[in-house]
Amino acid sequence: MPRQWRCTVCGYIHEGVEPPEVCPACGADRSLFVPVEEEAVATVTLLKDLVANFRLHSVVAHFPCGLLPTIALFLLAYFMTGQPHLESAVFWLLLVVLVAAPVSLASGIYAWQKHFKGRRAGIFMKKIGLALVLLLLGLAAAQLRFGHPELMMSVSWRSLLYLAFFVGMLGCAVLLGHYGSKLVFQSHGQDGA
Ligand SMILES: [Zn+2]
Repeated sequence: MPRQWRCTVCGYIHEGVEPPEVCPACGADRSLFVPVEEEAVATVTLLKDLVANFRLHSVVAHFPCGLLPTIALFLLAYFMTGQPHLESAVFWLLLVVLVAAPVSLASGIYAWQKHFKGRRAGIFMKKIGLALVLLLLGLAAAQLRFGHPELMMSVSWRSLLYLAFFVGMLGCAVLLGHYGSKLVFQSHGQDGA
Protein backbone atom coordinates (compact mmCIF):
# COMPACT_ATOMS: atom_id res chain seq x y z
CA MET A 1 0.00 0.00 0.00
CA PRO A 2 1.76 3.20 -1.13
CA ARG A 3 1.91 6.02 1.30
CA GLN A 4 3.59 9.35 1.67
CA TRP A 5 6.85 9.88 3.49
CA ARG A 6 8.21 13.26 4.43
CA CYS A 7 11.88 14.08 4.77
CA THR A 8 12.21 15.74 8.18
CA VAL A 9 15.32 17.59 7.00
CA CYS A 10 14.05 19.34 3.87
CA GLY A 11 10.34 18.49 3.69
CA TYR A 12 10.59 16.48 0.44
CA ILE A 13 7.57 14.16 0.00
CA HIS A 14 8.23 10.64 -1.28
CA GLU A 15 5.43 8.32 -2.39
CA GLY A 16 5.93 4.59 -2.00
CA VAL A 17 5.58 1.60 0.29
CA GLU A 18 8.92 2.39 1.91
CA PRO A 19 10.85 5.63 2.31
CA PRO A 20 13.74 6.06 -0.19
CA GLU A 21 17.27 4.98 0.78
CA VAL A 22 18.36 8.60 0.66
CA CYS A 23 16.38 11.79 0.12
CA PRO A 24 16.71 12.77 -3.57
CA ALA A 25 16.46 16.42 -2.60
CA CYS A 26 18.90 16.72 0.30
CA GLY A 27 20.57 13.32 0.68
CA ALA A 28 19.19 12.63 4.18
CA ASP A 29 19.19 9.00 5.34
CA ARG A 30 15.92 7.01 5.14
CA SER A 31 15.69 6.94 8.93
CA LEU A 32 14.94 10.67 8.74
CA PHE A 33 11.71 10.08 6.81
CA VAL A 34 8.38 9.97 8.65
CA PRO A 35 5.04 8.73 7.30
CA VAL A 36 2.92 11.80 6.51
CA GLU A 37 -0.53 10.77 7.77
CA GLU A 38 0.70 9.32 11.05
CA GLU A 39 2.75 12.41 11.67
CA ALA A 40 -0.31 14.61 11.11
CA VAL A 41 -2.45 12.44 13.39
CA ALA A 42 0.25 12.50 16.05
CA THR A 43 0.44 16.30 15.92
CA VAL A 44 -3.34 16.70 16.13
CA THR A 45 -3.53 14.24 19.04
CA LEU A 46 -0.75 16.09 20.81
CA LEU A 47 -2.48 19.46 20.34
CA LYS A 48 -5.87 18.09 21.41
CA ASP A 49 -4.26 16.54 24.43
CA LEU A 50 -2.54 19.82 25.26
CA VAL A 51 -5.79 21.81 25.01
CA ALA A 52 -7.84 19.23 26.93
CA ASN A 53 -5.27 18.86 29.66
CA PHE A 54 -4.04 22.43 29.83
CA ARG A 55 -4.01 23.38 33.45
CA LEU A 56 -3.67 27.06 34.13
CA HIS A 57 -2.80 26.32 37.73
CA SER A 58 0.14 24.09 36.84
CA VAL A 59 1.58 27.05 34.94
CA VAL A 60 0.62 29.91 37.28
CA ALA A 61 1.65 28.06 40.44
CA HIS A 62 5.29 28.19 39.37
CA PHE A 63 5.42 31.98 39.47
CA PRO A 64 5.16 32.61 43.22
CA CYS A 65 6.77 29.32 44.22
CA GLY A 66 9.63 29.73 41.74
CA LEU A 67 10.44 33.19 43.08
CA LEU A 68 11.04 31.97 46.63
CA PRO A 69 14.27 30.08 45.88
CA THR A 70 15.33 33.21 43.94
CA ILE A 71 14.62 35.29 47.04
CA ALA A 72 16.74 32.88 49.11
CA LEU A 73 19.63 33.26 46.64
CA PHE A 74 19.41 37.06 46.71
CA LEU A 75 19.35 37.03 50.52
CA LEU A 76 22.42 34.80 50.54
CA ALA A 77 24.15 37.13 48.08
CA TYR A 78 23.19 40.09 50.29
CA PHE A 79 24.72 38.45 53.37
CA MET A 80 27.89 37.69 51.44
CA THR A 81 28.34 41.09 49.80
CA GLY A 82 26.32 43.54 51.92
CA GLN A 83 25.10 45.24 48.73
CA PRO A 84 21.87 47.07 49.67
CA HIS A 85 20.38 46.72 46.17
CA LEU A 86 20.30 42.92 46.68
CA GLU A 87 18.17 43.44 49.77
CA SER A 88 15.78 45.74 47.89
CA ALA A 89 15.61 43.17 45.08
CA VAL A 90 14.34 40.69 47.69
CA PHE A 91 11.64 43.15 48.68
CA TRP A 92 10.55 43.66 45.07
CA LEU A 93 10.47 39.92 44.49
CA LEU A 94 8.33 39.60 47.61
CA LEU A 95 5.85 42.08 46.15
CA VAL A 96 5.71 40.04 42.92
CA VAL A 97 5.03 36.92 45.00
CA LEU A 98 2.19 38.77 46.73
CA VAL A 99 0.62 39.63 43.37
CA ALA A 100 1.13 36.14 41.91
CA ALA A 101 0.13 34.07 44.96
CA PRO A 102 -3.59 35.04 44.95
CA VAL A 103 -3.75 34.32 41.19
CA SER A 104 -2.17 30.93 41.83
CA LEU A 105 -4.57 30.24 44.71
CA ALA A 106 -7.61 31.25 42.63
CA SER A 107 -6.52 29.11 39.66
CA GLY A 108 -5.89 26.22 42.05
CA ILE A 109 -9.38 26.48 43.51
CA TYR A 110 -10.79 26.66 39.96
CA ALA A 111 -8.82 23.52 38.96
CA TRP A 112 -9.98 21.77 42.12
CA GLN A 113 -13.63 22.50 41.26
CA LYS A 114 -13.23 21.63 37.58
CA HIS A 115 -10.99 18.57 37.60
CA PHE A 116 -11.67 17.14 41.03
CA LYS A 117 -15.32 18.24 41.51
CA GLY A 118 -14.34 20.15 44.64
CA ARG A 119 -13.81 16.89 46.53
CA ARG A 120 -12.91 17.61 50.13
CA ALA A 121 -9.96 15.26 50.21
CA GLY A 122 -7.18 16.09 52.65
CA ILE A 123 -4.70 16.92 49.92
CA PHE A 124 -6.79 19.86 48.65
CA MET A 125 -7.35 21.18 52.16
CA LYS A 126 -3.59 20.98 52.75
CA LYS A 127 -2.85 22.80 49.50
CA ILE A 128 -5.35 25.59 50.17
CA GLY A 129 -4.14 25.88 53.75
CA LEU A 130 -0.49 26.05 52.68
CA ALA A 131 -1.28 28.66 50.04
CA LEU A 132 -3.10 30.80 52.63
CA VAL A 133 -0.22 30.47 55.10
CA LEU A 134 2.24 31.43 52.35
CA LEU A 135 0.15 34.47 51.49
CA LEU A 136 -0.20 35.55 55.14
CA LEU A 137 3.54 35.13 55.79
CA GLY A 138 4.23 37.19 52.68
CA LEU A 139 1.86 39.94 53.77
CA ALA A 140 3.42 39.97 57.23
CA ALA A 141 6.93 40.17 55.74
CA ALA A 142 5.90 43.01 53.40
CA GLN A 143 4.24 44.93 56.22
CA LEU A 144 7.32 44.53 58.40
CA ARG A 145 9.63 45.72 55.60
CA PHE A 146 7.32 48.65 54.72
CA GLY A 147 7.31 49.77 58.33
CA HIS A 148 11.05 49.29 58.80
CA PRO A 149 12.89 49.69 55.48
CA GLU A 150 16.26 49.51 57.30
CA LEU A 151 15.49 46.28 59.17
CA MET A 152 18.09 44.23 57.28
CA MET A 153 20.91 46.70 57.92
CA SER A 154 21.58 45.11 61.29
CA VAL A 155 20.76 41.95 63.21
CA SER A 156 17.66 42.42 65.33
CA TRP A 157 14.53 40.50 66.21
CA ARG A 158 12.87 42.24 63.26
CA SER A 159 15.45 41.09 60.75
CA LEU A 160 15.29 37.54 62.15
CA LEU A 161 11.49 37.59 61.98
CA TYR A 162 11.68 38.88 58.39
CA LEU A 163 13.99 35.97 57.51
CA ALA A 164 11.75 33.51 59.37
CA PHE A 165 8.81 34.64 57.21
CA PHE A 166 10.81 33.76 54.09
CA VAL A 167 11.87 30.39 55.49
CA GLY A 168 8.20 29.67 56.23
CA MET A 169 7.14 30.75 52.75
CA LEU A 170 9.82 28.62 51.13
CA GLY A 171 8.67 25.63 53.20
CA CYS A 172 5.08 26.21 52.05
CA ALA A 173 6.22 26.48 48.42
CA VAL A 174 8.15 23.19 48.65
CA LEU A 175 5.15 21.38 50.17
CA LEU A 176 2.76 22.94 47.65
CA GLY A 177 4.94 21.69 44.81
CA HIS A 178 5.17 18.27 46.44
CA TYR A 179 1.40 17.87 46.83
CA GLY A 180 0.83 19.39 43.39
CA SER A 181 3.01 16.75 41.74
CA LYS A 182 1.08 14.03 43.59
CA LEU A 183 -2.15 15.35 42.10
CA VAL A 184 -0.70 15.62 38.62
CA PHE A 185 0.63 12.07 38.58
CA GLN A 186 -2.50 10.70 40.21
CA SER A 187 -4.78 12.40 37.68
CA HIS A 188 -2.68 11.21 34.74
CA GLY A 189 -3.23 7.68 35.99
CA GLN A 190 -6.97 8.29 36.15
CA ASP A 191 -7.05 9.81 32.65
CA GLY A 192 -5.36 6.72 31.28
CA ALA A 193 -7.83 4.37 32.95
ZN1 LIG B 1 15.46 15.78 2.24
